[in-house]
Amino acid sequence: MELYHHTIRELHQKLCDGEVSSRQITEAVLARIDEVEPTLHSYIRVMKEEALDQADHIDEQLGKGEIEPTYLTGIPLAIKDVICIKGVPTTCGSKILEHFVPPYDATVIQKLKQQHPVLIGRTNMDEFAMGASTEHSAYGITRNPWDIERVPGGSSGGSAAAVAAGEAIAALGTDTGGSIRQPAAFCNITGLKPTYGRVSRYGLVAFASSLDQIGPMTKDVFDAAILLQAISGHDPKDSTSVNYSVPDYTQSLLPDLQGVKIGIPKEYFAEGLDPQIERAVRNAIDVLERLGATCREVSLPNTAYGVATYYIIAPSEASSNLARYDGVKYGYRTANYSDLMDMYTKTRSEGFGPEVIRRIMLGTYTLSSGYYDAYYLKAQKVRTLVRQDFERVFQEVDVLATPITPTPPFKIGEFVDDPLTMYLIDVYTVPINLAGLTGISIPCGFTQDHLPIGLQIIGGHFQEEKVLRTAFAFQEQTNFHRQQPEIARIDDK
Ligand code: GLN
Repeated sequence: MELYHHTIRELHQKLCDGEVSSRQITEAVLARIDEVEPTLHSYIRVMKEEALDQADHIDEQLGKGEIEPTYLTGIPLAIKDVICIKGVPTTCGSKILEHFVPPYDATVIQKLKQQHPVLIGRTNMDEFAMGASTEHSAYGITRNPWDIERVPGGSSGGSAAAVAAGEAIAALGTDTGGSIRQPAAFCNITGLKPTYGRVSRYGLVAFASSLDQIGPMTKDVFDAAILLQAISGHDPKDSTSVNYSVPDYTQSLLPDLQGVKIGIPKEYFAEGLDPQIERAVRNAIDVLERLGATCREVSLPNTAYGVATYYIIAPSEASSNLARYDGVKYGYRTANYSDLMDMYTKTRSEGFGPEVIRRIMLGTYTLSSGYYDAYYLKAQKVRTLVRQDFERVFQEVDVLATPITPTPPFKIGEFVDDPLTMYLIDVYTVPINLAGLTGISIPCGFTQDHLPIGLQIIGGHFQEEKVLRTAFAFQEQTNFHRQQPEIARIDDK
């Protein structure tokens, strides 16, 4: 097997055994990027020279015994272009931040750097993480490695495609309403959204501050545990990060599910779910039972209100967060303007794409006086009901098993002009963010057209260990996550 198809754990072992160097791994990944990037466009920026320099430096330090190799040492990682890296342009997929270079590292980057990984590039994304297809980027679309006519999901579609295609060994994504889990499902990788407060948001460009979390996108559950471990923990710079100790996540990975109680929420198998997805997820639940889990149906009656609630709260927060892009402080400023107001208006009209403008308008409306009570306040109340649904079922079960999406990956262009349909695709992912829970997406099958299908395991607040354990046991029994795409070339089509 090519080096770029290996997991973090496998490459770490090879590095420790002296079988490969970080330089060799990095060169293999860069060669893979040269090969498939013209077709997939997973990256906004590949940091080729920096990556090779980092790899050489790490090899030298390892050789001299100056550093002890931990799991991430020397491993090429990709970072979604919404997480600040000191000195490296961070665009958020937007023209408005085209030339923005952060003067500091996000806390997650600082934490990663303590383990000396190789940061290989910045991955493509829907502008400001608003979207489910990676079609809303000012820097072009990303294609799904499993079918290049289809979307990789979004908004972390670049990270998902890069990991699936071997253009990175693992990546960081962000999840506000499904943006780690849905692209993970569409690209046949593993993606974990941590509990709200588990991972610091300092240095993450804000979309919707009460929902955003950074998390791992990897080739398997073991790697997700490694990466989650590296980025978790309290941060005095983020008052919403929680001061709970971080368990050793790799220790929670057991091969069986004896004593684990799994709830199957009936509202997640309702009308609109593709029958091929339903079959794959139900088969996956049978596997979990064979591993020793007890499964039973539960009800989350407010599920149907999740999308409507999310699409009021997220745009409201976005309209406030994105007010800072005014042509004065950051990035883009319009070339010609008559006065200050004209400068603001033109900068924002030219700098933001249509989906971001739609969200700002929606959010400004729902927060405006006269509509605030009817929309924003009402949505906050429904959010409480959604959270209470979960709190009730988690008194009886350890985790929940559900699909990630109602449909398989869709065609590029299919819904780009139909925002409502695009929003409805988030039906099984947004409630988890509204309730602040943790959820993982793992591969659980393929459609007749060989498109990936994802299984979601949802856990209560700070129950990552249970989620990881369930997902790990499933991967020990199955091979879906080991399948790799045969990537067509764009010029063959
Ligand atoms: N698809 C959702 C949206 O468009 C989720 C995005 C996200 O998680 N960043 O808002």
